[in-house]
Order: sequence, then C-alpha cells, then structure tokens
Amino acid sequence: MRKRLRRAERIAESLPNASDIGLRVREAEKNVERARKWLKVIQLGNVGEDDRRALFMALEGVSYDIDICASDISLLLSQRMSSSLLRKREQKFVKPKTLRYFVIPRQTRIVLQKFLDECLNAIYGQNFRTRYPSLTPIVTIWPRPEYHYSSFSRTISIPPQDATKMCRFSSLAHEVCHSKIHNIMVALKAEKEPNQELASSLLGADWKDINEEWGRLEERFINLVKRKLDKTYLTLYSNIQDKFIVPRRYLGLQFTEILCDVATTKICGPADIFLLGWISAPYCRDPFSGVRRHLLDLNHPPDVVRLRYELYVLQIGQNNLSDSPRFPEIFRIVDNLIGFDLRSVPKEKWYDHQKLSDYLIGTYTFIVMKLLEKDIVGLVDRILGGSPQFDKDRWERIVRRYEESLSNPMLNSRDLLPYDLANMAWLKVADIFESTIGKGGTYKNFWTLRSKERFFFKRLWNCVVKK
Ligand SMILES: [Zn+2]
Repeated sequence: MRKRLRRAERIAESLPNASDIGLRVREAEKNVERARKWLKVIQLGNVGEDDRRALFMALEGVSYDIDICASDISLLLSQRMSSSLLRKREQKFVKPKTLRYFVIPRQTRIVLQKFLDECLNAIYGQNFRTRYPSLTPIVTIWPRPEYHYSSFSRTISIPPQDATKMCRFSSLAHEVCHSKIHNIMVALKAEKEPNQELASSLLGADWKDINEEWGRLEERFINLVKRKLDKTYLTLYSNIQDKFIVPRRYLGLQFTEILCDVATTKICGPADIFLLGWISAPYCRDPFSGVRRHLLDLNHPPDVVRLRYELYVLQIGQNNLSDSPRFPEIFRIVDNLIGFDLRSVPKEKWYDHQKLSDYLIGTYTFIVMKLLEKDIVGLVDRILGGSPQFDKDRWERIVRRYEESLSNPMLNSRDLLPYDLANMAWLKVADIFESTIGKGGTYKNFWTLRSKERFFFKRLWNCVVKK
C-alpha cells in the first residue's frame, strides 16, 4: 500500500495543478500508519476481549477510509492523466508510457484473457459470444480495491495487486455472472416489450418460464428473510445507532449475489471456497464483526453464510464431490481458518436468541439452504444453459495432476483448463497451510514456506500463458 501511495505521489508531482491529489495521498498515508499501529496491538494479543473488539471496529473504519481515499486518488489521477494525455494529443505529442496505471504487461493480459475465455464459454456459450460480441464483458486492471463489473462500459475491473494471482480469479467468474444477469435484465425489461431474440439467446426458448420462476423464487427469498429477520435487523441496527429495517431492494441484490456465488462454485469448483474462506476468515471467526460488516454493506449476504452454501453446492446433484479425494481437506482448512466446524449446518432455532448475530447468521443460512437444493440450483442451471459444470471427474483429474506435478517438474498441461490450474494452486496453498498453521505454526512460517514455493506457482502461471 505504501509503495503504491509513493507511486501515486510521484505521478501527482509530475502533473500540473495536482495539489488535491497530494493532499489525499498524505491523508491515506496517515490512515495506513494508524491502521498499522492498531494491527500491531491486535497481533500482540495483550488486550482484553472488549478492547480487541473496539480496535477491530476502529480498524474497520480506517480501512474503509483508506479504500475511499484510494478510489478518490485513482479517480483524480485518471482525470488528470486523461486530460494531460488529451492535451498532448492536441499537440501531437503522445507518450503512452506515462499512463503506467493502465498499461497491462503482455503476459498478464494473455493469462487474464484465457481465464476470461473459460468464464465466457461456461456462462454465455460460444454461440452467444459470436453473435453478440459487444454484450460480453472485457477485463481491465483498475486501481480500486475490489473486483467490479461496470454495466455502463461492460468492463470487469481487477485490482492491480490481484492481476498476477490466479488463485483469486474465481472472482472474475463471479463478475461475468453479474454481467450475464445484467444482460438478461436488459433483454427482459427493454423499453416497450422484452427483446425476445436477445432473451432467448441468453436463456433459451423457454425464457418466459425461467423469468417467471426467477421472480417467484426471489419473492419467496425476500419474504422469508423479511418475515423471520426484520426485527433482528432492526435491533442490530439500533446497536449501531441506526434505525433501519432491511429494505426489499437490498434483499433483491443479495439474491442476485447468491445466484452469482452458486454459479461461480459450479464453474470454478473449490477454488472459490478457498478464496472466500481466505479473505473473510476474520469476519467468519467472529459473528459480531461478520454481521457488522454485513450491516454496513447490505449488498451481500454475511460471509459465513456464503461459505456455507458454496460448500453445500459441491455436495449435491451433479456437482457432488463429497467422496472425492482431498475434498474433506477443504473443510478442514476452511474450518482452521475460520475457527469452527462448517459441517454443522445451523438449525433455525439452534442458537441462543440473545446472541442476535449468531441468530441472524443461523436463520439466514437456514433460509438459503431451504431454497437451495432444488430451486436456486435449478435456476442457476437454467441461467448457465447446458455448459459443462465442475464435477467429480474434473476434481479427481485436478488432484491426480497436482500430485503428479509434485514429483515431476515438467507439468504437461495439455488437458488442463485455466481454472484447473487455479485449483491446483489452491491445493498447493492448502498443503503449505496444513504443514505450517495446521500443525500449530504461525502465519510467518506459512509465508516463509509459501515464498520458497514460488517456482511451483510460476510454473502453473506459465502453463496458462502457453495454453
Ligand atoms: Zn457480486
């Protein structure tokens, strides 16, 4: 972060009238310093439970400020740079090298395109891609902290720090699902009447039935959450001094997120579960922080609920991996990360009602699970069309090839798809995790061993380049 800020500062200095950028950069630096101090206190661990929570909340606030600041800086920078570029263009004096933020190294671009191709084939199908090339998204690297699909430019932006980490690319599949749902909505809600041709290209000939089923299911989900959790949300909000019952609009957005999560699991397999467990572990470990994060960003279901249903998707129907090799390890590793047993599916009244955060998570999970097995999974299957999904054979092939690759450095990647290689990368991370943190080691041990294995990860990366 500091390095990026320094770079931003240097760019800011090279641009005319950029004192506001300099100001924002300094503000961000101050916040990074504060966050580091608090993190250290939390890591040292000699604070009481209440103080730790207060620090955690303060840290959350300051991280939010850093995020906002970072996106402000990137916006200001892009405005300034494009205006300076335009000025130079007017003077017939263009130096594209000055636009460092937007130049993607060739190899990174190739790898991103291969992953995007796999997503587009799985989510849209080859026919749609050929027929409507301008409706399918492209990928760009943009200096903002999260993956984002912009319906305006039909672009998926990837954070620069993730651009060379294929372990994280299941998020790309998630955003491609958002783009397809957006295109479906455009087709169904076209100005006068649905665009029938586009709707049937996206959903097949029975698009009307699918649309009705979708509406009914979303309504059922929203009503269930409202009926069972309205009061809980209200009380939880009043704890953070806000009088707010969760509106239907947000529940509609959460329903879309569930569809995208389920679709991503069906395309990328365990890679998305590893990723979600990895990035949301602190929030899953402490229901209080997890629910607080959910209340402040109502667009997504709570993280631990997402983890639970994604794991469930890989244990039912055509995606059932439950008795495949190494599958139980995924549970063990995610359990280790988040500090409890995910296999114990909470019952609706399983939790003590006094613990409202626990209650919210338990009931929310119960509602999604209730709708998941037939209805949500069925709807996602119809949205994805007939494209092949992640199944037992594919997972077994990945595990077999991973184990071969440990003894044979010449990895033959002919029959491997990009997301196979991403899953292999996660298997390696899982092994490093098991042999360090799993055996009572520290994160420092983990990262030391992880850096020793960089050639293995580089090899996987090269396989995608050469494909
Ligand atoms: Zn999403």
